[in-house]
Amino acid sequence: FSPWTDPASVPFIRFENITKKFGNFTAVDNLTLDIYEREFFALLGPSGCGKTTLMRMLAGFEEPTEGRILLQGKDLAGVPPYRRPTNMMFQSYALFPHMTVEKNIAFGLEQDNLPKADIAARVEEMLKLVKLEQFAKRKPSQLSGGQRQRVALARSLAKQPKVLLLDEPLGALDKKLREETQFELTDLQHTLGLTFLIVTHDQEEAMTVSDRIAVMDKGVIMQVATPAEIYEAPNSRYVADFIGDINIIEGAVVSNQGAATGGVMLDCDGLKVVVDQECPASTGDRVAFAIRPEKVRLSIDPPTETAVNAGAGEVYDIGYLGDFSLFLVKLDDGRIIRAAQANIQRLVDRPLTFGDRVWVNWSRDAGLVLTR
Ligand code: ATP
Repeated sequence: FSPWTDPASVPFIRFENITKKFGNFTAVDNLTLDIYEREFFALLGPSGCGKTTLMRMLAGFEEPTEGRILLQGKDLAGVPPYRRPTNMMFQSYALFPHMTVEKNIAFGLEQDNLPKADIAARVEEMLKLVKLEQFAKRKPSQLSGGQRQRVALARSLAKQPKVLLLDEPLGALDKKLREETQFELTDLQHTLGLTFLIVTHDQEEAMTVSDRIAVMDKGVIMQVATPAEIYEAPNSRYVADFIGDINIIEGAVVSNQGAATGGVMLDCDGLKVVVDQECPASTGDRVAFAIRPEKVRLSIDPPTETAVNAGAGEVYDIGYLGDFSLFLVKLDDGRIIRAAQANIQRLVDRPLTFGDRVWVNWSRDAGLVLTR
């Protein structure tokens, strides 16, 4: 499933040069974004980056200051929220406490004056969908947090929207329940074949549930890509740093001969780095070398090549994280390199400990040169 790679696909939702100003503050800045039908799409970014504002404009709760939002080619300008084929799922505390589960789910349908029999059928279908049939007569206060969340989900799906909008939907749940619910959400999205748009500041959540992610910063999109692309090939220091753990080492380009020939050679204050990568940087440009901790190898003995992509130092700190351990290695020049070792393979006969002399090194295709 990757309609965005097919030049013939028509976007389902198009944000076209959208700007949103509150007074003279620009919350969303000339943003363009296409989302495809049946996509699970995440807007990811720190607090205040404009992701909720973008979603609220799609729902019709805010109008853009400039630009257009198209849904299946139709301009949504002036269409009130209740006439849009979108529905927003709020966190579970937005349920009506005095109403039973089935009444909560039926509420929106009753507002629309649907025939009673249709409402009853739809409510039953929704209860089944979220596996809450036997809880129909309970009040929200008689449910667990996860069950309440499913009621909220059922309520927002009852009106059969084409696009479900999820604003930090799982924020109220504890970590384990949140992870379970994430998989339920993707399951549900596949079953229903709907387009889901989620807003989150939690990068793990975005990576787990979505087909594609837009990483936002200060009202603009920094990168739109699949979770794997975002993680493996971030396009900037900002995205690299926002997603997962990474070493970012500033340096300057010594030479750039492209991936096939000599690679890109960097001097990072004495640390020599060579990366096999096509990149637009020229000699002398200030760039960053970025490498994930799990791509950094640790060894007691010096690696075969010590002049480039390698450094000697000592173990400065160790974090044991169950599936892997994170080693902070203080190189002899004082910089700290983060190296992760999976705990399935033993590094050496004895475990490394604080103060041990070690080498770090990495292969020429393990890291990235970031030009912005
Ligand atoms: P969070 O995760 O904290 O909700 P966000 O990325 O969703 O953050 P938005 O809610 O979109 O951010 O807000 C973006 C910026 O616009 C913030 O600086 C916010 O203070 C501002 N903003 C949002 N709504 C309004 C409003 N109605 N009036 C004035 N400023 C607003």
